Amino acid sequence: MREGLAGLIVAHPANIRYLTGFTGSSGAALVFLEETVLVTDTRYEAQAPREVGDLARVEVVRADVWERVKQELQIADCRLKNGVEGWGIEGESITVSTARRLRDLGIADLKPVTGLVEDLRAVKDQQEIDAIRAAATLAQEALAAALPAVRVGARELDVAAALERELRIRGSEWHPFPTIVASGPRSALPHARSSDRVIERDELVLLDFGAQVHGYCADLTRVVVAGRAGARQRAMHALVEEAQQAAISGLRAGLTGRDGDALARRVIEVRGFGTAFGHSLGHGLGLEVHEAPRLSHASDAVLPEDCVVTVEPGVYFPGWGGIRLEDDVRLTTEGAELLSDGKTELVEIEG
Ligand code: ZN
Ligand code: ZN
Repeated sequence: MREGLAGLIVAHPANIRYLTGFTGSSGAALVFLEETVLVTDTRYEAQAPREVGDLARVEVVRADVWERVKQELQIADCRLKNGVEGWGIEGESITVSTARRLRDLGIADLKPVTGLVEDLRAVKDQQEIDAIRAAATLAQEALAAALPAVRVGARELDVAAALERELRIRGSEWHPFPTIVASGPRSALPHARSSDRVIERDELVLLDFGAQVHGYCADLTRVVVAGRAGARQRAMHALVEEAQQAAISGLRAGLTGRDGDALARRVIEVRGFGTAFGHSLGHGLGLEVHEAPRLSHASDAVLPEDCVVTVEPGVYFPGWGGIRLEDDVRLTTEGAELLSDGKTELVEIEG
């Protein structure tokens, strides 16, 4: 156990799922040296043992999960020969009321930890990579089927509904985040939600959407024009495409998040549009749509072998609009392998 811990109390649902296979929303996983224990409540009596198999011992309780956690810690405590060094607990996932409950139960020696399971999750095995690739393929097929919904006179919400329907009927387990359809000047908002704005002729429409397969997420952004693309739309699209290409060709495991981010940022900066690229280049993908590692000027962390990240440069001009192109890649020391199709050309939709 790292950091001299006697064990780790895992409370973040995605981390519990990663360690035990359990997909429920209520419970705690206790990671001891010799075993992992999943404590959950009776709503999951049938589901938990089926999902967990032999990855952990499952304890289903009628009353308070934390009461049972305390008992398990006491049992583990007795087994420890050299005295307790303290239990690690995921500080970012524990609410104030749970912390109070733990204190009332007299669970002492809790040491808040961050990122222990997240660092393990950042490195993907083949099965995880296959699931992300399957999610990306599903998302691309859904977009192709939904593109006719992008037309002059349609509302952004109509397009989002068409896209989400295509995602679901192709088997996406859920939308990892609310689908973004942002048209015209609204595409300048990197975190726009879909609205009831009506798409006008020759406007940009930015679509940022995801799919989930076996719990694993894909995250894509494409830009289309409802009509004919103008010169500025083409120029800005070409710039972002070039920045994304530069990043995909240069990215590899072993770089820092900052080095990775700079690969695309440099291309946009030398053309004088640096201030229009206001967010970081990308984020890890897995059981969550935003996870470690980050491609950011603020990240010194080294990108590990077999991590999966998005590559999503963008430029945004208030009042005019924005262009972002997003693909998903796996990083090895050799380079970046596309898990999505990388088909970022500016599509013009007549009608
Ligand atoms: Zn996205
Ligand atoms: Zn993203």
